[in-house]
Amino acid sequence: MRLIIMGPPGAGKGTQASTIADRYGIPAISTGDIFRANVSEGTPLGREAQRYMDAGEYVPDEVTNAMVRDRLAEPDCEPGFLLDGYPRTVAQVEELDGMLDAAGVSLDVVLVLTVEDEVLVRRLLQRAQVEGRADDTEEVIRRRQEVYREQTAPLIEVYAGRDLLVEVDGMGEVGEVTTRIFGALDRVSA
Ligand code: AMP
Repeated sequence: MRLIIMGPPGAGKGTQASTIADRYGIPAISTGDIFRANVSEGTPLGREAQRYMDAGEYVPDEVTNAMVRDRLAEPDCEPGFLLDGYPRTVAQVEELDGMLDAAGVSLDVVLVLTVEDEVLVRRLLQRAQVEGRADDTEEVIRRRQEVYREQTAPLIEVYAGRDLLVEVDGMGEVGEVTTRIFGALDRVSA
């Protein structure tokens, strides 16, 4: 199974990604997590990414694409993978297409979690208290939402045009959302 999970910041992508990945026995690859790990280890990649992340902007495509290319070449991605937070721009979609073509594989599903705007802000502010992420201040949250709307939301149409899109209601309890996701994925793979 090769899939992408999409949705605005706070939609619950990370939470659901690990559950889905466990079920299919594939790695959940979160570009945000990889960037954060590099920031906390103080690597050159982390130093490059941090200023963008702190401002709620996207890390430049060349940096992100190279990082994903390396990660997808790891042997654990052979049976499949779940990408969380990538692609996020039309240019990244094209780059991913090239990586998959070169490997002779293709995507099975693009899962989109939909959540109302006010709920998103509430969830992110709550996460800020629990996890203390530097980019979970109200101002940066609003900027991340704008960037998502401008640069990432258009990808939904792109993947819908390829007949890969599965939209799932991301409102409610975590377990309820997981049940909906599994139901939707079962219908796709049946
Ligand atoms: P996330 O944990 O997915 O919300 O990502 C946190 C931050 O990492 C984002 O706000 C971006 O600054 C950066 N980031 C993660 N994934 C990407 C990507 N695909 N392209 C560019 N920047 C990214």
